Amino acid sequence: MSLRKEIVLLLEEMAELMEFDGQNRFKVNAFKNGANTLRRLEGDIEEKINDKSIKDVKGIGKGLQQVIYEYYETGSAKEYEELLKKVPSGIHDVLKIRGLGAKKVKLLYKELEIDSIEKLEQLCKNGKVSEVKGFSEKSVEKILEEIKRIKKSSGYMLLSIAVERSKKIIEQLSNIKSIEKVEVTGEIRRVREIISKIELICSIKEEKMSIEEISKLFNYNEIESNTSYKVYKLMSEDAGEFILYVTSPDNYEKVLLQSTGSEEFLQKMRDPDNSDFSTETEYFNLVKSDFVIPEMREEHYFELPKRLREQTDLSSEHFNGFFHFHTTASDGNNTLAEMIDEVARTGFKYAVVCDHSKSAFYANGLREDRIAEQQKEISELNKISKIKIYHGIESDILRDGSLDYSDDILAEFHFIVTSIHSLFNLTEEEMTARIIKAVENPYTDILAHPTGRLLLSRDGYQVNIKKVIDACAANNVAIEINANPHRLDLDWRNLFYAREKECLITINPDAHSTDGISDIEYGIMIARKAGVQPKEILNCYTEEEFVKYINRKVKRKI
Ligand SMILES: [Zn+2]
Ligand SMILES: [Zn+2]
Repeated sequence: MSLRKEIVLLLEEMAELMEFDGQNRFKVNAFKNGANTLRRLEGDIEEKINDKSIKDVKGIGKGLQQVIYEYYETGSAKEYEELLKKVPSGIHDVLKIRGLGAKKVKLLYKELEIDSIEKLEQLCKNGKVSEVKGFSEKSVEKILEEIKRIKKSSGYMLLSIAVERSKKIIEQLSNIKSIEKVEVTGEIRRVREIISKIELICSIKEEKMSIEEISKLFNYNEIESNTSYKVYKLMSEDAGEFILYVTSPDNYEKVLLQSTGSEEFLQKMRDPDNSDFSTETEYFNLVKSDFVIPEMREEHYFELPKRLREQTDLSSEHFNGFFHFHTTASDGNNTLAEMIDEVARTGFKYAVVCDHSKSAFYANGLREDRIAEQQKEISELNKISKIKIYHGIESDILRDGSLDYSDDILAEFHFIVTSIHSLFNLTEEEMTARIIKAVENPYTDILAHPTGRLLLSRDGYQVNIKKVIDACAANNVAIEINANPHRLDLDWRNLFYAREKECLITINPDAHSTDGISDIEYGIMIARKAGVQPKEILNCYTEEEFVKYINRKVKRKI
């Protein structure tokens, strides 16, 4: 999708959400008209964003500019996120049905409490919707057609969404007495960055009873059945469709192994169907292999040198340092004190705040005069804080690869995160050279979100990532796994290359609020998928080792 189309759709969606939320009509119209203006606007939108001339376009006021800039940089916008929170989540999907519109959706919500596509479909089919004023039989038919189309096209979801949904389902299933054990399997257990279907597995004591109880909780279809298990396709009202493998305690791990996959992995390892085993460990013994953790069970595994195949026990327990997060000084939602409280509570031993730099004007980046202000805030807070706070910055990489502060200013910080937030459309050669130059800057400690991809919404920029990794390794710069579930960038496939080159790795959720801190778990999951060991991660350094690291090239004022 082109950037123009992405932004137009965003503004339209926001207008719909605002209208549903009952916001001011003028504001709703401003967003609707803004979308139309951008749709027809001549010239290159990205250029207009980068040279800020978008603000001169008639009808694109301050509020819209803010959304456009934020979206361009992060793939989302604060105001949008807030709207999403205000409107029930099922309604977002209902609003996407063509030809319905916010007014009608609101009416259906009020009259029939329709707050999800599933419910809408059900009430269309049983004739309730056509009884509502303004809905004819014909319009109901159209809605049903649209629902069919949407269901077909919506393929993947973010890992975080799948994890959240499966947690809800597991909670419900755990209440069933005859279910002994239930957990995720399939793509979620293998930690794919995007998920095509939620798959769970449970072992049951008594088949008939369990199925009866499950069918009370969910609509269901049996889709496959053999001697050792049955597979059901089920529908949860608040978590959507999912697959459930139902098996006996004796066959549990066998079915768990099979359903975890991947198919390619098991085929290459050896088909478990013909082997006699009752636990996963037994299976790997049987096929004369070391145990392979579920996350690593991909075709990829067989191409790895032995050193990289080693399994990892990496978990949040190994983490000491929390880096690269934002506060209200730039575009975060919480103050530094609030962030540090939560970071300390989570168990980290030291923290490095890295707000946006001055080029990120849309994110209220720190101009030179505000750096000293933050420095003062930090030293005051350090007097009372449970953990030590270091002062870093996320400094924008400019077009020519230089950072957006002079060396004098960079020297004021303890830590420099560099990243690309603009001019995404350079050639691969230009982009690679630009990033490598930033990595070679002696002040640079971390290269953040190295490809700029946004999962399910935007591909990364064109860049030779291997050359970038080589440069990070050569310059002793840590490459980031950005743990924000929309990013998970660096991709796990490239992490193997980074490990091969002994490049230091860092995992950061790029938290913009206290809620975002726990997203670090998604980064850890991805790191495990690439077999990353604690000693390969900068965040696992003790504070002493960390201080040594930040002084490896330039003397920092500590
Ligand atoms: Zn960033
Ligand atoms: Zn950031």
